[in-house]
Amino acid sequence: MSFADLGLSDELLRAVTESGYTEPTPIQRQAIPPVLMMKDLIGIAQTGTGKTASFVLPMIDILAHGRSRARMPRSLILEPTRELAAQVAENFEKYGKYHKLSMALLIGGVSMGDQIKALEKGVDVLIATPGRLMDLFQRGNILLTGCGLLVIDEADRMLDMGFIPDIEEICTKLPKNRQTLLFSATMPPPIKKLADKFLTNPKSIEVSRPASANLQITQRLVEVDARKKREVLRELIDAEDVNTAIIFCNRKTTVRELAKSLKRHGYKAGEIHGDMDQPARLAELELFKKGEVNLLVASDVAARGLDVKGVSHVFNFDAPWHPDDYVHRIGRTGRAGATGKAFTFITKDDVEAIENIEKLIGQKIERVAKQVRAEAAEPAAKAPRARKPAKTEQPQKAETPAREERAAGDRKKKPSPEPRAARQAPRDEEADDGWNGPMPGFLSVKLCS
Ligand code: ADP
Ligand code: MG
Repeated sequence: MSFADLGLSDELLRAVTESGYTEPTPIQRQAIPPVLMMKDLIGIAQTGTGKTASFVLPMIDILAHGRSRARMPRSLILEPTRELAAQVAENFEKYGKYHKLSMALLIGGVSMGDQIKALEKGVDVLIATPGRLMDLFQRGNILLTGCGLLVIDEADRMLDMGFIPDIEEICTKLPKNRQTLLFSATMPPPIKKLADKFLTNPKSIEVSRPASANLQITQRLVEVDARKKREVLRELIDAEDVNTAIIFCNRKTTVRELAKSLKRHGYKAGEIHGDMDQPARLAELELFKKGEVNLLVASDVAARGLDVKGVSHVFNFDAPWHPDDYVHRIGRTGRAGATGKAFTFITKDDVEAIENIEKLIGQKIERVAKQVRAEAAEPAAKAPRARKPAKTEQPQKAETPAREERAAGDRKKKPSPEPRAARQAPRDEEADDGWNGPMPGFLSVKLCS
């Protein structure tokens, strides 16, 4: 089946062809026709399967007819993070180049300017993060009564970040007879509840089992001594012929220190985490996309949906606390049919986390032999080669297992049947991610022509 079979307009097909896509992904094949028919839809598909285009494409054709009015956006797309919102905006620009749609991006951390003016003039598409949208709504800068189409994207991530109450409130401000689309990689009960409450007779599409990890990704667990993580990471990077990699850590401090350490060892490493302001994050991403930096050390804020092409490897320097994060992290590689490799470092404290991950993805992850070597190398540290790097690793003391354990104690002790409860409160990584911060910001992007 080709894009032309989906009922999209000729202008749109031209833009799609120019973007290099030859055929729709399974979620696009199944979602685009019902969305064009103005049906409500729940789309569940793993990360990297092309969910964005499955709503952006039909939206462009739906919005091609009709006009926007002052302060009354005609459609609204909710995204959990600024990066994802910016990516969706890029998609609108790319596919909407032959349409005259106007768009505004409403995200925190970007300076305010003539963007309110754009909103005043009226926009066809408003892309926003829930917190920022609520701010503006409360100031009376925006009316949602003319918004006939709502997209809740990355719904499971919204849940993780504690945005569900905001979304519920936003839903009540929109007209009842709107079209609502919800996309997610997984479908935990609170998302199901949200869908039941705010979608009308939705068509449900599930492309693969929820949270199944991408089969194109070779996954390995690497057992390491917590004090040897950096050393093992460098060994792996060297041995693995890494083209580009994202290296995930659970904490911002770890991100910063690891990036510094890698640079000290001569690697082209960059970092992205919640302490950086938006321009700094985008600048770092840009360096990574351009290849000036090929190892991006990241926190989970950067994990979801970031569309960076050609990532050959994902390293989980820390095993993620939440199993869903695992799926999202490793989803950064093996995008849209490409193959990728994901290595997850595990220490003796991660046993439960790994069990939960394996339960979620429904498969056992192979443990690599390398771990044995790395561990074996330790008692035999008389060998000068093994000892030397250990000495240069003084700063790593900041992350001795004892401290990690204490800091993570709260979360780890949560009984596993209710890990979701812990997620309602934003994690420390996200708490200062700018959503509740004082800096109002919003940026609009006009589509071409
Ligand atoms: P998701 O939201 O499901 O995680 P995205 O929409 O971000 O995934 O898309 C993942 C990647 O796949 C992006 O790089 C996107 O450009 C690419 N992609 C999307 N649709 C197609 C297609 N039909 N053919 C080839 N690549 C595609
Ligand atoms: Mg997405």
